[in-house]
Amino acid sequence: MTNKDLADFLFPDIDKTVADYEKIYPKRDLDENACVTRYAPSPTGFMHIGNFYSVVVDYVIAKQSNGVFFLRNEDTDQAREVEGAVEYIRHVLEHYKLNPDEYEYRDTNDSKGNYGPYIQSERKNIYKAFIKELVSMGKAYPCFLTQEEMDTIRENQSKAKARIGIYGKFAKYRNLSVEEAIEKVKNGENYTIRLKSEGDFDEKFTFHDLANGDMELHENDIDTIIYKSSTELPTYHFAHLVDDHLMHTTHVIRGQEWMSSIPVHYELFKTFGFELPKYIHTPLILKKDGDKIRKISKRLDPEARMAYYEEKGYPIYSVIEAIMTIANSNYEAWRETHPESPFTDFEFSPKKMSASGALFDLDKLDNISKNYLSKLKATEVFDLLDTWTKEYDPEFNELINKYKEYTISILNIEREQEKPRKDFACMKEIKNLIFYMYKELFNPTEYEWKNITDKNEIKNILNIYMDKYYDYNDDKDTWFNKVKLLCDELGYASNIKEYKQNPENFKGSVVDISTVIRVSVTSRSNTPDLYELLKLLGKEEILRRIDMI
Ligand code: GLU
Repeated sequence: MTNKDLADFLFPDIDKTVADYEKIYPKRDLDENACVTRYAPSPTGFMHIGNFYSVVVDYVIAKQSNGVFFLRNEDTDQAREVEGAVEYIRHVLEHYKLNPDEYEYRDTNDSKGNYGPYIQSERKNIYKAFIKELVSMGKAYPCFLTQEEMDTIRENQSKAKARIGIYGKFAKYRNLSVEEAIEKVKNGENYTIRLKSEGDFDEKFTFHDLANGDMELHENDIDTIIYKSSTELPTYHFAHLVDDHLMHTTHVIRGQEWMSSIPVHYELFKTFGFELPKYIHTPLILKKDGDKIRKISKRLDPEARMAYYEEKGYPIYSVIEAIMTIANSNYEAWRETHPESPFTDFEFSPKKMSASGALFDLDKLDNISKNYLSKLKATEVFDLLDTWTKEYDPEFNELINKYKEYTISILNIEREQEKPRKDFACMKEIKNLIFYMYKELFNPTEYEWKNITDKNEIKNILNIYMDKYYDYNDDKDTWFNKVKLLCDELGYASNIKEYKQNPENFKGSVVDISTVIRVSVTSRSNTPDLYELLKLLGKEEILRRIDMI
């Protein structure tokens, strides 16, 4: 009996060949330099900042070359599937407007693209056709090693300090006759299919990674599992070969943890005679932890999860900008000269990616975000705040909508000027900065009095100020001159220079008086422009608050 007999016996229902599938999925009709990229998550967990980094790179490379970015759901490890993971991935792509050109969403029955199915568990027959061909060529074989046997082999290899894996003499079923193999399957023995590796570990080959450059790697000689009869599904290695070949992926962008699989992928593509895609292995995302720099961790660092950024209400622009900044060393300089351009206009170069790791810094993200938010119109910030609070702070959402125009005016303080105020980086920070502007939230239990702390003196200052000097209709200069007059009347220096020269001549200065007024109406000693705040609050509310002291 021949290997073809074995292949027919194992896959009797598979009648299409590799060539048939290549006809069904012909070369894409794209410009010569167009790149086809894919995000291929396994729905086994929630999205990590490292995954997001890869998605941004996928997206930018596809878009700037007029190519295609598609989403493939790699659900071959069904035991590890986490409920809601696929929906969440889709949500993140939609939220950041990094929508794939081709995809398939099972929950909504929504799909697009001619190279599907884009869900691996729906591609069983395709994989089987490729496996069948490999078996009939004698380049793959059924293996009947049990888990216990494999554990023992691993233990022995460990003890003997030998390389781990099923290769050479450890590949017990590599040379089983077709008859024996068929017999075993007929007897109901569970099996996997392994690649019959032709590699030699002592030989090396050169592999080029677009980000990491040339690497000298040992050839693969491991008879890697490529298919499991128990699930009728291939392993990641084999699905990568089949899918990226038939979907005509030009650039495989994936995490560095896959680097150790390059030799087996290289051998698989070579075995079929397929052209290898280009690879970019993305660096680990690092963070500063005290004096140390370490890998960002899902367990230790909340910012490792993509959900963190939405929970805090960072604008999508800021997050993408922060990623682009670490993805390419010249991005920041480009942004300075192209402040209005979409990030996809930047000419991304894999060569400029840092291979050793990308340092992601939350302070940097905050800076980017503060700058960005400071340049928006108050109405735009209101819209962002409205969307975010709807989900994360419904009570505050009600309040800002009840007083919509008022809220926009608050957000407009020190905005639309040459040096706008930059005091918040995300939506979550806003409430804490403006809560006191709402009657409903103003709660003067924690006044931040400074320098002048004597209640009688405070009340005296405020009473005289309101009786004699405060006028809602004053312009800003007149208003400030009146605060100075109040200082003169009460023995506080209205001129800071004079105060600094002879502090003993005064009870304090105009700074102290302003602070008393500021704290009395906001409870805070640090706020945006006091004149604007007073104007927005109105005389009646100012008096009400002063009364509470
Ligand atoms: N399913 C793999 C993962 O989630 C994909 C790796 C790849 O992009 O090829 O890590």
